[in-house]
Amino acid sequence: MNALDRFSLADRVAVVTGGTRGLGAGFARALGDAGAAVVLVGRDATAADEVLGSLRDNDIRADFVEADVTAPADVQRMLDSTLALHGRVDILVNNAGACVHAPALDVTPEDWRAVMAVNVDAVWTCSQTFGRHFVAQGRGSIVNIGSMSGLIVNRPQWQPAYNASKAAVHHLTRSLAAEWAPHGVRVNALAPGYIKTDMSPVDDPKFRQHWIDDAPMQRYGTVEELAPAVVFLASDASSFVTGSVLVADGGYTAF
Ligand code: NDP
Repeated sequence: MNALDRFSLADRVAVVTGGTRGLGAGFARALGDAGAAVVLVGRDATAADEVLGSLRDNDIRADFVEADVTAPADVQRMLDSTLALHGRVDILVNNAGACVHAPALDVTPEDWRAVMAVNVDAVWTCSQTFGRHFVAQGRGSIVNIGSMSGLIVNRPQWQPAYNASKAAVHHLTRSLAAEWAPHGVRVNALAPGYIKTDMSPVDDPKFRQHWIDDAPMQRYGTVEELAPAVVFLASDASSFVTGSVLVADGGYTAF
């Protein structure tokens, strides 16, 4: 197998949570471009239709499972539906995420719980549910979408719950990787810097000044720049990589 062949996802099946918009839709596109059949997961069937249309226009086998990743029964249905559609599953991308921008003294118990439910509890439930299947089959790759915010503290838009949740994602990644490595299951995380999506307040002038003026590359990233990293972590190109947190932030956290 030559080096480029190791990136191929031909005959693989990938599930992308939060694949209905933002980064998840871009990750699904890249995994499909690499040859995988993709299953998008989200709560909005209308948004999913748009992404499915564009994937299928590009000859990517794509389906949608409507599910709330914070509901364990939905997560089990994600796995069962994928197996019913394809008879196999190889890759799980835990991408669905939520953020509340508020200084610590204004964060309500509901805000805290809402962020933790999607960013931590659901990553755990999805990883355990798919991990059980991956361990039993002796192979599988999980890619968790962490964040630069799991490494440093965001400002000027404070988001303590989000920061803590992404640090938890990074360490859960290492923990599962260590346990499941002997079973042929790899678990890695991608920690992106800022990318313009519904979640990130990148057009706010104070935010722009901070994150662009102080950033080594003096710009935000794009989903097209992140997506190949997900293909790398999902594919045999990274067969000796597990428990890693791959930082893709234009150098921000390096300085
Ligand atoms: P968006 O807000 O654009 O998209 C979030 C996605 O998550 C949507 O598809 C949404 O689908 C899905 N989602 C949220 N809650 C649930 C739920 N309970 N069940 C199922 N799906 C859910 O966010 P981004 O694309 O920006 O973020 C994607 C990931 O990347 C997140 O984990 C985020 O933390 C991370 N990240 C983003 C950065 C950025 O700058 N944008 C930087 C670093 C990390 P729907 O609401 O339709 O169900």
